[in-house]
Amino acid sequence: MNLREVSSLLMEASSNSFLRTSLDRANLSYWELRKSVFSKYPYLKDLADKVREVKESSLERMEELTHIAMESVERNGGFAYLARTPDEARRIVDEIVGDGKVIVKGKSITSEELGLREHLASRGKEVYETDLGEFLVQFIGPKSMHFISVSIHLTRERVAEFLRGFMGEEVDKDDIEGMVSLVRKFLRRKYFEADIGMSGVNAFAADEGCGFIIENESNVRLSISLPRKHIMLVGMEKVLPTMLDAWRAVEVITRYNGYKVSSYVNIVRGPQKDGFGPRELHVIFLDNGRVESSRDPVLKEALLCLRCGACQYLCPVFWIVGGYWGGLKSVYSGGIGVIWEYITGSKEEATKHSFACLLCGRCKEACPMRIDQQKILREIRRRGYSVKAP
Ligand code: SF4
Repeated sequence: MNLREVSSLLMEASSNSFLRTSLDRANLSYWELRKSVFSKYPYLKDLADKVREVKESSLERMEELTHIAMESVERNGGFAYLARTPDEARRIVDEIVGDGKVIVKGKSITSEELGLREHLASRGKEVYETDLGEFLVQFIGPKSMHFISVSIHLTRERVAEFLRGFMGEEVDKDDIEGMVSLVRKFLRRKYFEADIGMSGVNAFAADEGCGFIIENESNVRLSISLPRKHIMLVGMEKVLPTMLDAWRAVEVITRYNGYKVSSYVNIVRGPQKDGFGPRELHVIFLDNGRVESSRDPVLKEALLCLRCGACQYLCPVFWIVGGYWGGLKSVYSGGIGVIWEYITGSKEEATKHSFACLLCGRCKEACPMRIDQQKILREIRRRGYSVKAP
């Protein structure tokens, strides 16, 4: 994609009236929720500062903490792996999956970094996203459009049309509950048929080897507890020293998502005990550019990101073009997404998309980690990775 194509993509997105209306609704409602959360919990900013402090020192010892976490996983009876590249991670996943056929997945942007769903499908596996929005994006496309509101770009007409074809049943576009229940029924069967469950994590406590996963639909809970094997994917920047640190991060993420409390927080510690949970737990820690970036004086700040989505709601560019900013091939979107694409994906694509930033700095105000995206994006532009004028 050249710079002209980037700009046409963004122009096209900006004239999509449905997307504009959905983004307006989502952003305005987020700001109402955020106001009410902050007035109820005035200590949130201080808590976020504490999390930033712990994350900063954790990034300084990312390798060491990952090794402590791996030892804890094995002590708990699980299997721990360190994958330096997406290829290595996919190879590890292939070995674990073996001749398993059906895989149910919780939302995990780390798995998208690996193109895991497409990879497994190409090997003849049946893979299902179990988060409702992700399920729709899996089949309708083109990509998750937001860290939280992943299917914000899909109209109810488009969803009804897809479900009619996919489920072979009559679907009323105005019956949202009916559509949700259809997907729920379909996925219920898949949880029981599945050989493997997969999830990402929001935080990982190295001392006890526990993954913390926030969710609202109970889909992750079912993906963890019903299949025989569970695979947890952990970006190395998510590893924190202690359970308390992870709990604090969970509270900050939830509240900056705009929730007072999320419906569920899963803590996954090890394989089955007393007949509950997966018989095998496999935890894959992923590097994919994180260690190198943790040593980069400018990029390392981006590793503090908690994926709360607050900056995406506040950003004036994102408000107009949504997840199209970043390109349809990148799994990440928005200003922070461009930076993460630079760290984990294509530097060239990320550099082109870095020019869409207005450098207004509103994202820093919204961010619990006070990440200075403007500064990082300027630096990415300055490095000018092979960007040619059209
Ligand atoms: S950059 Fe900050 S506001 Fe944006 S998703 Fe990450 S933690 Fe949240």
